[in-house]
Amino acid sequence: MPVLRDFFITLSENQFLNSAAQKYGLKMGAQSVVAGTNIPEVIESMKELNAQGISCTVDNLGEFVYEKSEATNAKERILAVIEAIHENDVDAHVSLKPSQLGLDIDFDFCYENLMEIVGKAHEYNIHVNFDMEDYDRLQPSFDMMEKITQVYDNVGTVIQAYFFNAKENIEKYKNYRLRIVKGAYKESPEVAYQDKNDIDLNFIELIEYHLLNGKFTSIATHDHNIINHVKQFVKDHNIPNDKFEFQMLYGFRKEMQLELAKEGYNFCTYVPFGDDWYGYFMRRLAERPQNLNLVTKQVFTK
Ligand code: FAD
Repeated sequence: MPVLRDFFITLSENQFLNSAAQKYGLKMGAQSVVAGTNIPEVIESMKELNAQGISCTVDNLGEFVYEKSEATNAKERILAVIEAIHENDVDAHVSLKPSQLGLDIDFDFCYENLMEIVGKAHEYNIHVNFDMEDYDRLQPSFDMMEKITQVYDNVGTVIQAYFFNAKENIEKYKNYRLRIVKGAYKESPEVAYQDKNDIDLNFIELIEYHLLNGKFTSIATHDHNIINHVKQFVKDHNIPNDKFEFQMLYGFRKEMQLELAKEGYNFCTYVPFGDDWYGYFMRRLAERPQNLNLVTKQVFTK
């Protein structure tokens, strides 16, 4: 399995395939896990989820941007999404990747872009989450969050359990709203656990720490064992429902998403949309090669 994981992660980083995929639209089954390519489509998808008692975090797909013009386009699009959430009264917040807004180009340029986005979201009382990318972008993203939260309080980020320094970071950033995940990128054994059991154990430890000591916790996983563990833990420690939520990705374990919402837990679906779906989709295949079923289903149902 690690070989397949590496294979799909390598594909996710291939610039040529990425551009080709954008040109040919949502193919290869990606439409089951990406909620459309434009704002009206994603608003419709989120309204449907809201009607089922599920809130959303919306992601304008895109990452690893190296041209200022591209980062500016991404900023304009995210501003338009925020406007659309407000106008349509959708129960949603925003997730974004700092590298899409120019983190790799210039810190200050990225800061200006993010300040505009977070400022607009703040006007409408909308939270903004900085997704965490790979290790090289970890500290710059935390630095960015710290700088922006000197002005605005509607920002949080992600802690990835595979990193050795995750515990240190969760303690440092416990006063932020945090999403806790296992981690989706290929990282070196010098900085990250490679073994699934080690990652799972650290994941549980981080979730428990933030539930007991931190601000709002988003537990983002499709892993039923972890979810069941959390359900028992919050019960045992009398942690109220308004201190945490479960999150899953759009299109995955749909029945479980609904069940959790029906059981009365806050549930939030991560809803990606846009043309730049290729890297996101390849990472989902890397995590779970069974997701290839989505591809074969697409091919055979045409
Ligand atoms: P896994 O370890 O993939 O799966 C554990 C077990 O759960 C599997 O063995 C299987 O039994 C079951 N299972 C999992 N998926 C399914 C399925 N589809 N159907 C049936 N059973 C299943 N990563 C980042 O690095 N940065 C981020 O900012 C980030 N944000 C995320 C936001 C959300 C909302 C989510 C859900 C994930 C995010 N991730 C992010 C990805 C995350 O790091 C993991 O790579 C991804 O969630 C896979 O791990 P898992 O916890 O779902 O469980």
